[in-house]
Amino acid sequence: MMPVKTTCPYCGVGCGIIATRHEDGRVGIAGDPDHPANFGRLCSKGSALAETLSLSDRELHPLIGSKRAPWDEALDLVARKFTNAIRDFGPDSVAFYVSGQLLTEDYYVANKLMKGFIGSANIDTNSRLCMASAVAGHIRAFGSDTVPGTYEDFDLADLVVLVGSNLAWCHPVLFQRLVAAREKRGTKLVVIDPRRTATAESADIHLALRPGSDVALFNGLLRYLFVTGKTDADFVSRHTAGLESALAACSAELAQATGLSAGEIESFFSLFAATEKSVTAFSQGVNQSTSGTDKVNAIINCHLLTGRIGKPGMGPFSLTGQPNAMGGREVGGLANALAAHMDIGNPEHRALVQAFWSAPHIAARPGLKAIDLFRAVGDGRIKALWIMATNPAVSMPDADTVAEALRACPFVVISDVTARTDTARHAHVFLPAAAWGEKSGTVTNSERRISRQRSFLALPGEARPDWWIISQVAKRMGFAGFDYGSPAEIFREHAALTALANGGTRDLDLTPVSDTPYEELAPFQWGGARRFFGSGRFYTADGRARFVPTPWRSAATATTAAYPFILNTGRIRDQWHTMTRTAKTARLMQHIAEPFGELHPDDARMLGIEAASLVEVAKGEKRIILRALINPRQQRGCVFVPMHWSEALSANATVNRLVAANTDPVSGQPELKWSAVSVRPVEAAWYGFAVSREKPDCAPLDYWSLAPAENGWRLECAGMCAVEGFDDVLENILALRGDLLAYHDQASGEHRFALFDGDRLEAAVFFARHPVGVSRNWLAAQLAGKNQGVNRLRLLAGRGGEDGPDRGAIVCSCFSIGIKQIMALVAGGQASTVKDVGDLLKAGTNCGSCKPEIGRIIHETHAAATPGAAPHRSALGAAGLLRP
Ligand code: SF4
Repeated sequence: MMPVKTTCPYCGVGCGIIATRHEDGRVGIAGDPDHPANFGRLCSKGSALAETLSLSDRELHPLIGSKRAPWDEALDLVARKFTNAIRDFGPDSVAFYVSGQLLTEDYYVANKLMKGFIGSANIDTNSRLCMASAVAGHIRAFGSDTVPGTYEDFDLADLVVLVGSNLAWCHPVLFQRLVAAREKRGTKLVVIDPRRTATAESADIHLALRPGSDVALFNGLLRYLFVTGKTDADFVSRHTAGLESALAACSAELAQATGLSAGEIESFFSLFAATEKSVTAFSQGVNQSTSGTDKVNAIINCHLLTGRIGKPGMGPFSLTGQPNAMGGREVGGLANALAAHMDIGNPEHRALVQAFWSAPHIAARPGLKAIDLFRAVGDGRIKALWIMATNPAVSMPDADTVAEALRACPFVVISDVTARTDTARHAHVFLPAAAWGEKSGTVTNSERRISRQRSFLALPGEARPDWWIISQVAKRMGFAGFDYGSPAEIFREHAALTALANGGTRDLDLTPVSDTPYEELAPFQWGGARRFFGSGRFYTADGRARFVPTPWRSAATATTAAYPFILNTGRIRDQWHTMTRTAKTARLMQHIAEPFGELHPDDARMLGIEAASLVEVAKGEKRIILRALINPRQQRGCVFVPMHWSEALSANATVNRLVAANTDPVSGQPELKWSAVSVRPVEAAWYGFAVSREKPDCAPLDYWSLAPAENGWRLECAGMCAVEGFDDVLENILALRGDLLAYHDQASGEHRFALFDGDRLEAAVFFARHPVGVSRNWLAAQLAGKNQGVNRLRLLAGRGGEDGPDRGAIVCSCFSIGIKQIMALVAGGQASTVKDVGDLLKAGTNCGSCKPEIGRIIHETHAAATPGAAPHRSALGAAGLLRP
């Protein structure tokens, strides 16, 4: 098959991909060298996309309850239930919760149905959790939700400030672009983040400020710039308003609020003041906060004061998390937005949209934002709910309450690619949606670049595109205007709406591409000029940008004696959201295979928590159990837990169970970076590790975490009660067949088993009183080989011999290079730079996502070899490299 140009379905970088389906059914994935977002590069997640395309976990038929049903019956039922709810309880008794995974065309149709035909604005999106604060901040400052800059600004800047962004792990291709710019022109990098992340380790200045104190820091910068005269007085007087009140709000005592030293603050402020070409890029550490919108405006204030906006190499820059968060914004997918960047509070805009759609209604006021929407589901105000392409039972704060609300809701529709999510189990009707590779449409990345997603796989089973499903329901509800035959028709309608009565009054106008054949649509940035606001004209009523006063407020809640730790959540390098896709590939599970709680060594010591033991993180009755990752990159008093794990792959690690549903008062975005929790050691009586060809039954285990491995599974487990021998445990989790080799050492409490079918390893299982110390990746690799003679004994030892060296935890997912391989090269004097390691092992030479970790391993290996410099043992494990 001819190669197909499409776009990555993961993060907001929006990398172009060339997908090729071979005759034998295999799919080749490569970066598109012509795509301006990535110029051929892909990160570890994008590179592994072909490995996620299997249909093994897909649901390919409509379900009513748990029974298959014909499409007609399922669609009729959905239409009837929604119609009845609206008839009996009004339009606000129904709601859609949609997703930044949807394509723009899907989003457009869903929004049209809800706001124009049902007549409610109760449609919100998981992008509320991602960048609603950026949207609100943009609108307050610019009068429009406009990202002024482009990725090219990262190439042209002399200073890049990253605020609340672990770019190296969360937007890896853009980070590599920045690395290249730094090598070329010496771009300075400042990272503002409480944690010393992989990104922070690359920075010239890392400001490990107190969680949530960003507003105080940027208020201080605003005042510093003003007092030192580093302002663009002409720009401020001609193009802005409100400076005095913004300055008056800058009152916080900086060092006290941020916890930073005067020297650290001065070095950042003076660098920013002296560097004309400055980009300040921000992401979830800014947005996911009860003061998220103020954080955004505090950053924008500094750029307005210096006139550094809309010019090459300068400006504030919102990095979106999801592949199509921006497309959703463009079609009004948020409950407080209207289509085509129009304003739901503006009667003229509402009339325009209603007339354009020939709609019977138009929502006259904002609908329920995500947190309030699920509260309304929980208290019975929402009678019918449709969730599209997202997993709120895991991803929403206060996740247990969300799950309870779903359980209680009279009618829940889920349209998704898989029914095996924690959310889909609550579905009254499940509608099978087309997945990436099967569907077609457009997405918009963080720099306003619209790209095509193109299908290269046939629709499997009865799966259908989301736009088709929504249109079918709309038609069955009796609405005209949904007779679409293709996404191209929808895109044309969307483009026409952006142009309607626009005349330059709104930023979004797709007229320039409205005549381009859809199939030929090449990636393009909307906005005509490459940057917005360089001319000083903004979309406020008087054309002036607004300085917004952002008085610093401490966190909405405080730590207490009972809950003394600040819980911070976020992503890890090789996983995406709730892992429904990335956990399908063993390669991406090699880097970090188990959920963890990251603690500072002093806190761990104080609590008696040992590396690789288990910890409980709790709030009230709710608790999760995780593996302890102890390293000095974490701040004291904080614990970081990845957001990805759900009940599908772990016993009890859904971190959002502990996150309170506190929101920013302007944007409605929930705080996911700051919750007060307790942390304590878990007294496990025993620990276990297994690799097995068949999926273990984890139900009998107190603690477990499962990950796919090549040809099987790997299992971490633990028990809270002592057991005699481990034969019963073994039998409970694995159906035993074949030859069993066993080793028992009652004195040390070690029990080891290897199970064979002929010369094929079926399972290797290890139990001990302490965390099991075996070579995990080596063992997992043995599921692929034949194991006779001495190898069988090595399997019981849990380590390869000289001919099967232990690579250790995998650092480079692309080439499966482990930490021990890198350390050996460095210790042997063969490598002293990241490039040396790349030249010798290829590690880091494909996507580059692991380069910061390789750099850290080199540094720490050198430090370990320096007399008198005792390395931190767990730090040598590297972030995420939990155990060898
Ligand atoms: Fe996909 Fe990685 Fe590019 Fe993000 S950086 S779009 S995840 S390939």
